[in-house]
Amino acid sequence: MHLLDQIAEWVRTTPEKLAHISNDRRMTYGELGARSDALAAWLDAELGERRVPVAIHGHKEPEMLITFLAAVKTGRPYVPIDVSTPTTRVERVMEVSEAGVLLTPEKVAAIPTSASYEAARRVGESDPFYVLFTSGSTGEPKGVVITLANLNHYLGWMRGAHEFVPGGEVFLNHAPFTFDLSVHDIYLALSTGGTIFSLTKETAADFRQLFEALRNCGATQWMSTPSFAQMCMIERGFSAAMLPAMKRFFFCGETMAPETGAQMLERFPGVEVWNTYGPTEATVAVTSVPVTRELIAEWNPLPIGRVMPGTQIIIRGENGQPVPAGERGEIIIAGPNVSPGYLRRPDLTEKAFAPHEATRCYRTGDWGRDRDGVIFCEGRMDNQIKLHGHRIELGDMEANLRDLDEIADAVVLPVKKGDRVDSVAAFVVLSGPKQGSDFEQAAKLKTKLGERLPPYMVPRKFVFLDSFPMNANGKADRKQLAATIGQ
Ligand code: AMP
Repeated sequence: MHLLDQIAEWVRTTPEKLAHISNDRRMTYGELGARSDALAAWLDAELGERRVPVAIHGHKEPEMLITFLAAVKTGRPYVPIDVSTPTTRVERVMEVSEAGVLLTPEKVAAIPTSASYEAARRVGESDPFYVLFTSGSTGEPKGVVITLANLNHYLGWMRGAHEFVPGGEVFLNHAPFTFDLSVHDIYLALSTGGTIFSLTKETAADFRQLFEALRNCGATQWMSTPSFAQMCMIERGFSAAMLPAMKRFFFCGETMAPETGAQMLERFPGVEVWNTYGPTEATVAVTSVPVTRELIAEWNPLPIGRVMPGTQIIIRGENGQPVPAGERGEIIIAGPNVSPGYLRRPDLTEKAFAPHEATRCYRTGDWGRDRDGVIFCEGRMDNQIKLHGHRIELGDMEANLRDLDEIADAVVLPVKKGDRVDSVAAFVVLSGPKQGSDFEQAAKLKTKLGERLPPYMVPRKFVFLDSFPMNANGKADRKQLAATIGQ
């Protein structure tokens, strides 16, 4: 059954049931159905025949979900843009995506609910369903296109491998809607008649509010980065007593430390803990493994698990051929979950994607190993990092720093604590005299960069240099620079 029909069935049979909770706002299935119909009619009137993406700039408001459904009901993909995105970056996303309209929760809220909408051309299997923008190494955000077929493959895997009680699950949603972990929450909830309980970034940043929300959410399902769980574990009360209904934790998006797994098992006895892995380009996740005491005792780092049915993982060597079993190479994902590519960027698409048998494959840029079908992810081959769960290309930060008038050249390096990236440091050669102290100059640059990049992409530390040390190739010597900050 079409995903939209599955959701429509819950709208019809359980209109009073809560589909979404965010702060003090509650939206029922009935409301979600009626308001997304009204917006769909409005979009058709506004955009006519143009099958252009529908962008929405917001955070965790119910209007975000209303817009997502309205867009796909009209056959248009949606592009979520988080409120934390500065205006210039929003403009870039609008340009790259050629979105036909930029909505906000307020605009959507102002559209009156009308009679029901008869979908003339809803999104089909091979049509783009959503476009998520991610950091691009040249300073330009790139839009990952995910089709309904891609999404269905993911949802089919999850629903086949795990029990989600129809009408009985509450999905704790921590990830922003611009990060595809939220896709897991949204569509597993809406297709099984469950409730999405969204944490806003304000709530997540305030421990009192956060733990109060967790105590009251009734969540049965959890999908987040390990970073978020680690943060929650600072509070000793973060345990089964706080989340008594919890059945299953999925972790994805970054390396899961064995200690995190061990602590989760200890604090939530009897609750499933899964380590899952996947890039946005392959729709949320492609491998998974239950984290058990035995697994933790056996492996460090933990494996990312076995690949989902219908999809293949190939570990490829430098010569483009699969490496012998157990050896290290690049993780290539091939299957129906692999995106058609980056929106309007055939150049980038060609570099990272290729046809593979009846489907497509994606070069992840991750080092990996396959031990008897169990996959291990061993870090990046390039300058992409994960900072507190956010995917960042260091080149994106560098390009945006170099674009500032005050800066002649910039190199950005991760600052690690143990294996984890804790912050980012920028090494900068100024184009003119320094303005004020190091601290004052850094503050000025942070403000200017903050007008171009989201807050998590602004380096914490700035180091001012007259010139960069060079390596034998005449490039800035990153190793030497890293050594100056004890890395
Ligand atoms: P994103 O597109 O934001 O989901 O980021 C995808 C990247 O995050 C992958 O290519 C990996 O580098 C990393 N990643 C995702 N899941 C895991 C995991 N379970 N363990 C280690 N790295 C992961």
